[in-house]
Amino acid sequence: MSAKKITPWVVGNWKMNPQQQKVTEWISQFDTALNNSPIDEQKCHLGIAPTALALSELKAHKFNRNVHAVAQDVSRFSGTGAFTGEMSAELLKDYQIDYVLIGHSERRELLNDNIDVLKAKLKSALSAGITVIYCVGETLQQREDGQAEQIVLQQICDIASTVGETQWAQILVAYEPIWAIGTGKTASPEDAQAMHEKIRAGLKQLTSQDIPLLYGGSVKPENAVDLATCPDINGALVGGASLQADSFYKIAAAFAEN
Ligand code: PEP
Repeated sequence: MSAKKITPWVVGNWKMNPQQQKVTEWISQFDTALNNSPIDEQKCHLGIAPTALALSELKAHKFNRNVHAVAQDVSRFSGTGAFTGEMSAELLKDYQIDYVLIGHSERRELLNDNIDVLKAKLKSALSAGITVIYCVGETLQQREDGQAEQIVLQQICDIASTVGETQWAQILVAYEPIWAIGTGKTASPEDAQAMHEKIRAGLKQLTSQDIPLLYGGSVKPENAVDLATCPDINGALVGGASLQADSFYKIAAAFAEN
């Protein structure tokens, strides 16, 4: 299968935003956009990762197509039990949440998600049947030192022993150069494509599955078409621009139509 036959994914990461009223407004606005829209599930998968507080509201809303509710995090502990503040993969599954972000650079850098923690979260999510959007990416310093490719491929190799062959079907990879997240600086389509090509080649050594490769880092309606036309970019993980329903819709349309 050529990389472009992979149905694209456009996923919004709301991080620690927004307040309840804005969630309700966003859902209503996005609902209206989808009602007049040719973007169906065959053209583009959609997901939103709201705060844990808003997962149920998003999940309960009946859009005219799937808008998958994505958890921003999962516990490294399984099942149920005395783990205050934690949300296990089994509980997510019980609430019909089938997707989770793991490895986001903010969690790696600010919340001590080291590789052992990430592997435990990954193992738990995969065993519970949850699909994981696994984030990788280099710092500006690493890029300037010419280490970007090595760092990113290592981040993927780090999880290889945790993912069984059939479980690769439950993995999407999001390449998110850290210097492009929330900074307004996007990797050029050429640089993003070049890294995605390397990631795809690296993944081919590990699995025969075609893994969707999402780009993340200041994706906006203005740059989405150029990114969407790159052969190895199968979607986007969108932070800031996903908080506006119309911007998120335009990004989804760019990927659905290219
Ligand atoms: C993100 O946090 O995953 C992200 C890509 O953020 P932004 O689009 O705001 O750069």
